[in-house]
Amino acid sequence: MNRQKSFENDNATLYLIATPIGNLNEMTFRSVEILKSINYIAAEDTRNTIKLLNHFDISTKLISHHEHNLISSIPKIIDLLKDGNNIALVSDAGYPAISDPGYELVQEVISNGFNVVPISGANACLNALVVSGICPQPFLFYGFLSHQDKKKKKELEKLKNYEETIVFYEAPHRIKKTLVLMKDIFGNRNICLARELTKKHEEINRGTIEEIIDVVDTMKGEMVIVVEGCTNVEEIVTFEQSIEEHVNEYIQTGMSTKDAIKEVSRQRNISKNIVYQEYHKKIK
Ligand code: SAM
Repeated sequence: MNRQKSFENDNATLYLIATPIGNLNEMTFRSVEILKSINYIAAEDTRNTIKLLNHFDISTKLISHHEHNLISSIPKIIDLLKDGNNIALVSDAGYPAISDPGYELVQEVISNGFNVVPISGANACLNALVVSGICPQPFLFYGFLSHQDKKKKKELEKLKNYEETIVFYEAPHRIKKTLVLMKDIFGNRNICLARELTKKHEEINRGTIEEIIDVVDTMKGEMVIVVEGCTNVEEIVTFEQSIEEHVNEYIQTGMSTKDAIKEVSRQRNISKNIVYQEYHKKIK
């Protein structure tokens, strides 16, 4: 077991600092203050990070930490921590370690007994999730699918029956192919394609996969796909009544809507979330 009381010890610290995903004002007072006060900043791409540092008048020394130099940069950072230095890890955008380098370093820092402290900020997944209009919990953050068609297909097949909302990151030049494959495997579900979040050309596209495919050719920039979870239609249609009728039947006996949803979910052996969504979809 590893128990860290972040601000009650004198151990050296690795700060995981989220940086803007577009709008520079997403930088927080706390993150600027910490970046100014520590000894080193480990950056995914020092050329990008220097621009951020210049903008906020931060002169802390930069070192490089990216997926191609992990083997040499991790021991270097551990040695710096051993010498009592406090270090921040930043990526090009959003949280380090979220579809970005960081996880391996975090593991190593923890096992060497130093602090790992998160500094809150921007993240593309959460921004897209909360504006999607799709049930935000439970949700599964998947990140990038494989670039190889065969592997991507296999990954989507595995996710097909998940009831959780799923969030994917995708590159603009792969988006159409991915959506077409998604439609073939998931069916024509509701999705949200959020692009250029926090930037001038931010756009939130909500609709079925088919509707989004029809307009996606015109879209550029950074993208997040939020996909509605599996609503297990086969289970639902085997009942003679619709879910709405089934829930209403219990409400008419004096049950609260919440209890009626719980009872219908128990009887149909499907999650409360599915019944809730189906019921509220019908009564809108
Ligand atoms: N670490 C980042 C985070 O916390 O969100 C993610 C980095 S990952 C390498 C880059 C991907 O995040 C992009 O390909 C895109 O899918 C998504 N992304 C980053 N910035 C975005 C933005 N402003 N709008 C939409 N998606 C964005």
